[in-house]
Amino acid sequence: MKLEKYSFGIGDRFGRQGKAQLTAIIKAKQQGIKITPVWNKSNREHTIIGTTPQDTRKEADDAVSAAAFEDSYFVDADHIGLYNVDAFIESSDFFTLDVADFMGQPAQESEIQAFIEKHKKLIGSLIIPGIDATFEISAQQVRDIAAKCLLAIKEAGKIYRHIESAKGTGNFITEVSMDETDQPQTPVEMLFILAAIADEGIPAGTIAPKFTGRFNKGVDYVGDVDKFANEFEADVALVAFAANEFDLPRDLKLSVHSGSDKFSIYGPIADTLKKFDAGLHLKTAGTTWLEELIGLAMAGGDGLALAKEVYAVAISRIDELCGPYETVIDIDIAALPTPHVVDKWDSETFASALRHDQSCQNYDLNLRQLLHVAYKIAAEMGPRYFDALDKYADIIAQNVTENIYERHIKPLFT
Ligand SMILES: [Zn+2]
Repeated sequence: MKLEKYSFGIGDRFGRQGKAQLTAIIKAKQQGIKITPVWNKSNREHTIIGTTPQDTRKEADDAVSAAAFEDSYFVDADHIGLYNVDAFIESSDFFTLDVADFMGQPAQESEIQAFIEKHKKLIGSLIIPGIDATFEISAQQVRDIAAKCLLAIKEAGKIYRHIESAKGTGNFITEVSMDETDQPQTPVEMLFILAAIADEGIPAGTIAPKFTGRFNKGVDYVGDVDKFANEFEADVALVAFAANEFDLPRDLKLSVHSGSDKFSIYGPIADTLKKFDAGLHLKTAGTTWLEELIGLAMAGGDGLALAKEVYAVAISRIDELCGPYETVIDIDIAALPTPHVVDKWDSETFASALRHDQSCQNYDLNLRQLLHVAYKIAAEMGPRYFDALDKYADIIAQNVTENIYERHIKPLFT
């Protein structure tokens, strides 16, 4: 059960590109970079597409055996809670415990008191190696953080123990995620959250905070990159400190739920990992499905026609498709090309509008975001879509592998 220093949550909406994704991981290995692949899929995705966690397990197992890949790999039950974890227990060995909904719900006064008492030695001046500023921590601050976060971490404890009782200790990786909250966690909040995670006896392998800025689905970071860089560095320093200070795994690392393709922060992330010799789990979402569409468009003929059809239907059902992703997309609807315009596009025009190459003047951020959330349309096409994936498997696989290796792995880990 080894999660390497670097691990990559690759996701795959339709579960057809496992081999092409794994090829990118193998390519990295040939360059001397070991990355643990983790196939992640949330309950929301399964529900929209009509797949089950067993499908993700099968995809991962098949890809790994076809490539004779001998290193560790995982299947991540992404963003689960007590209410839906059971469907994931058998097929998953990585669990992302999502306790965002419990953040801000007050814990019991007696528990808050006990928490402050237990961690009172952190009150006062605190120096964390790697962070220039000295933290001045007051009892009131610890009380406020405990009031806000303790119940959520206790909930994480309940989920963890539920999984542990079914799968056995040490048989899975645990991530605690708080990324889907309104406000980023401050470093001091992170410190006490990690203390609470240790108190609950959760052997967290990864922790996913909410970072500053917007992490819209499938497109680049929107926000102050310098501010992000400072925050990320502080979080890395803090995680290393906490892993030493509290009863937590020594190789605890940050997990960045990127929503995919946050290219402008990859530079600062890579610099910080090197500076601190730190590990990282990077979770992408569904850009592999966009590479499928790019591959279909590049294939021309009925492949291109199918990609155009997905777009036309997506435009007609835009509110329905965007609804579940409201808080993580920013589409300028008026700027979207009409299906009539798109219908005239050739392969290259369609592919370059969708491909995430910001240096290309054809690149269309609005179209990309809409198609990113439009996978339901392809799911509804069923065999028609899957047959096209089979027919154009080679060109699609090339795009999937190149996207992961060139645009993600290289800038982050090399
Ligand atoms: Zn997330």
